[in-house]
Amino acid sequence: MIGLAEKRDYYEVLGVNKGCTEEELKKAYRKLAKQYHPDLNPDDKDAEEKFKEVGEAYEVLSDKEKRAKYDQFGHAGVDPSYGAGGGAYGGGFGGGFGGFDVGDIFESFFGGGFGGSARTRNPNAPIKGNNISAQITLSFMEAAKGCSKEINIQRLERCASCNGSGAAPGTSTETCSSCNGTGQVRVQQRTPFGVIQSSRPCDRCGGKGKIIKTPCSACRGLGRVRRSVKTTINVPAGIDDGQTFVLSGQGDNGVNGGPSGDLNITVAIRPDPIFERDGYDVWCEIPVTFAQAALGDELTVPTIDGKVKYNIPEGTQPNTTFRLRGKGINYVNGRGRGDQYVKVVVEIPKNLNSKQKEALKHFDSLGTEKNYEKRKSFFDKLRDLVNRDSQ
Ligand SMILES: [Zn+2]
Ligand SMILES: [Zn+2]
Repeated sequence: MIGLAEKRDYYEVLGVNKGCTEEELKKAYRKLAKQYHPDLNPDDKDAEEKFKEVGEAYEVLSDKEKRAKYDQFGHAGVDPSYGAGGGAYGGGFGGGFGGFDVGDIFESFFGGGFGGSARTRNPNAPIKGNNISAQITLSFMEAAKGCSKEINIQRLERCASCNGSGAAPGTSTETCSSCNGTGQVRVQQRTPFGVIQSSRPCDRCGGKGKIIKTPCSACRGLGRVRRSVKTTINVPAGIDDGQTFVLSGQGDNGVNGGPSGDLNITVAIRPDPIFERDGYDVWCEIPVTFAQAALGDELTVPTIDGKVKYNIPEGTQPNTTFRLRGKGINYVNGRGRGDQYVKVVVEIPKNLNSKQKEALKHFDSLGTEKNYEKRKSFFDKLRDLVNRDSQ
């Protein structure tokens, strides 16, 4: 049998003195485990080996009993595979430990925050519920001003019959007898390096350590049930078409006491007959008569806050746009508002009766020279062109 003769000294691995305190040990482990964590060093075999080595060293040295044995007998004192069958202590201490679980130690330090290392996920660990999503359709004004809406959603909620335990009312969960409630069973494996002990999740209880003898009939022992619920949501003012806002904690109920997921709501906005939106600005068009544009007038302009008065000057040209500052949409995540733009559309009258036609002809007969800038300039250019060609 091949012994692991080249195994490094555990104190050396962690870079600490033999007489170091538990605190120093912890500090050294924390630093090295972070440095070599596989999630931070993907595809680096060396780092992975180092990470294991560091974890193994810490596993032994952080345990007072094991550390004492290690101090006295070296690796042979704590590693069942080391020199098995040989010296007086070979395998002698093996039964009680062995089977390092680096992931567990690491998680106890860093709370499993690195993700990815799900290989030793504890089935009793709290898990956040799933996020769910919904879509709502709003009118232009509801989106601009904010509103509250009642919507129907389906989500997993804590089972009311068993209060989330999964055990039928009046019964309780029992400790699994296969693993004595630890959730882990030990397995021995013969390898070229000797017998290696490791643990794996208990099949009988799925690693939970507890068994539900009589499952709750309402949730079939799951502790959560999918329900259709009506909920009232507050839509923030200023939300735009296609945007999503998040209501945290309104999604699926968590597992093992974990927090609930979120409810993500995506907004669709129905087109408005008067207003059009461009980011936080609002646009609208106001048709005016030829006479209003020529004489100037006080217009009544619709805004999202109600009607306001606006005076257009004499001689307002078609498609002139004016701006109403701060009359636009509220910034959805902050103070302030966009502007409103109003475009003046001059409508040329149609279906004139004979009296109206007479009036217009009469108007034109009163002289046009001074009233039409563009027209005058156009004919001036045309005259120049004709003169040039005839020379
Ligand atoms: Zn239940
Ligand atoms: Zn079990």
